[in-house]
Amino acid sequence: MTVPPGSTIGIVGGGQLGRMLALAAAQLGYRCHVYAPDVDSVAAQVAAAFTQGAFDDEAALARFAAAVDVVTYEFENIPTKPLAALAARVPVHPPLAALETAQDRLEEKIFVQRLGGSPAPFARIDDEAGLEAAVARIGTPAILKTRRFGYDGKGQVRIDSPGEAAPAWAEVRGAPAVLEALVRFDAEFSILLCRGADGETVVWEAPRNRHEGGILVTSSVPAGAALAGAIAEGEALARRIAEALDYVGVIAVEFFAAGGAAVFNEMAPRVHNSGHWTIEGALTSQFDNHIRAICGLPLGAAALAAPAVEMANLVGAEADGWPAEAVRSPLAKSIGIRRFRDASRVASTATSRRAPALSA
Ligand code: AMP
Repeated sequence: MTVPPGSTIGIVGGGQLGRMLALAAAQLGYRCHVYAPDVDSVAAQVAAAFTQGAFDDEAALARFAAAVDVVTYEFENIPTKPLAALAARVPVHPPLAALETAQDRLEEKIFVQRLGGSPAPFARIDDEAGLEAAVARIGTPAILKTRRFGYDGKGQVRIDSPGEAAPAWAEVRGAPAVLEALVRFDAEFSILLCRGADGETVVWEAPRNRHEGGILVTSSVPAGAALAGAIAEGEALARRIAEALDYVGVIAVEFFAAGGAAVFNEMAPRVHNSGHWTIEGALTSQFDNHIRAICGLPLGAAALAAPAVEMANLVGAEADGWPAEAVRSPLAKSIGIRRFRDASRVASTATSRRAPALSA
């Protein structure tokens, strides 16, 4: 089904990803209606309409459904039950099965294993005795992660010796969890893929991602020849995931490259911060293609627009120093700067840098 330009796209979630989706949608001739609990949503600032409502307010969501032609979401920690009620009234992309799978780290790993993927050795943890047994089996160092509601390294505790199991269990407050072996990785990368309703699929060049304290610091493409084998394996798995879910829209799948192989970390059924660089650095951005996919339009090419691209994810005070640095840079004309300031007054800026084309 094609949702023609002029229609209204509903975006559930009001953060920076929603903002960039709304801007891409506007360029393609759509109106956006943002639904989020935020008082001051950075997505709503650039959208035609905004409903401030809780993610489980079924009456408000029903009114939202009546006002839009198609719905997407930009945030994973949304209860799926009210979204399912929404899906009964209006098309919702990506499919809720993808959201349900990605919301539970255990289900996600089992799902990916069934498709032939390889997560780090893991165990389901429901109590302290189970954690102690799993630490004995998997060994240390390992990471205890809550199954639900974790992001940017939140809900994670590192265990370096068996004696640290009990305090780690106390730290996650007995929440259902998974224990994962710590991966001695060579690098991290993500596969960014967009699939249309007709199965057409495009994949961007995989960025090499560097994290500090669980937070993304830089994404760089190309990722380098040393990662080529792991990236090919990761891309094949991402394609199988998208097929298995009959996926529509952008999906990001994060991996560790270890010994030439792709170790699955997690997937995000949405546009992803490791793909911000696609705005300046690819012929079609992840935001543009996500909107095209959910509206049933043909997808745009994902090829690189420059030989090398780097994205720096700047948070808080780092963002404040950036404009001066950008103006001084010889690459100033090819740097994209985006700033967001949310209601909690935390500044976060993502910038993309496009290297000038190499001269012959
Ligand atoms: P996550 O929220 O699970 O993606 O974790 C955030 C970051 O923590 C990852 O991108 C890695 O840098 C690090 N990390 C998480 N799990 C592991 C693991 N099993 N082994 C090594 N590093 C990890």
